[in-house]
Amino acid sequence: MRQFFIPRIEKIEPSQEGVFLSQGIARGVKPSKKIVELYSTALLRYRELAEPKGVIETISVQDFSQVHSGMGMNEKKTPLATIYPQSQYLALLAFTLGETISQEITRLFNNNDFALGSMLDSVASEGADMATRVGEQEFYQFLMVKNQCEPSITVLLYSPGYCGWHISAQKRLFEYLRPEEIGITLNQQFLMVPLKSITGVLVAGKRDIHIFKNNYSFCHECNHRSCKKRINELKKRDKEINNGHIKSDLRASAKGRGSKSI
Ligand code: SF4
Repeated sequence: MRQFFIPRIEKIEPSQEGVFLSQGIARGVKPSKKIVELYSTALLRYRELAEPKGVIETISVQDFSQVHSGMGMNEKKTPLATIYPQSQYLALLAFTLGETISQEITRLFNNNDFALGSMLDSVASEGADMATRVGEQEFYQFLMVKNQCEPSITVLLYSPGYCGWHISAQKRLFEYLRPEEIGITLNQQFLMVPLKSITGVLVAGKRDIHIFKNNYSFCHECNHRSCKKRINELKKRDKEINNGHIKSDLRASAKGRGSKSI
């Protein structure tokens, strides 16, 4: 399966709170009127300039082991190395907000409008992060439509450059997925152009496979500990499912602007 998707902009529109947190404004701190206005202006510009599009392609465990190994630079032990062999299905994902929004951020910085430039940068980064969730939902829905998974399955994205999976694995990921088709290229440092893009592997499997202890050799250098948040969310959803409050975490997912399979 190779599927393109275009999420509706409101599905990837970051909240004021999320953007302010990424700007270093702690929860509970009331931002100034000027900051709130900057956020509103940046959000309008984001809605106008973002050109979101993504591609998902299924991959076998065997083929993914080649992508995962990359150029042989991964840490010896990583969460993903343990997780993906236990998966039921795997797919590669690439998503971008397009070049126009990156150009606008650059233009604002070049014009010394650092306040709006920095706010738009945060809005776009948060928006790209939210696209991760849309990609997870797209893959989950594909599996459900094909009757290929139980409702209890969980889909999570893991990306090169994080948690011991070396960024150089992007090379093989690009060779397999060919995200150039949606306008994403890779430079010599394995960074994506446009900058506001994400890639990774969507791992579909039982919830338990995604739950791990963050005591890997590289974890002491990690300043975001995002795995903790994801694992806590999984456990919380488990509780809600067990209590019958929700059927499944991803079943009630939103469809994008449109999806197209080829
Ligand atoms: S602590 Fe950081 S580096 Fe370690 S697994 Fe969690 S997110 Fe990854």
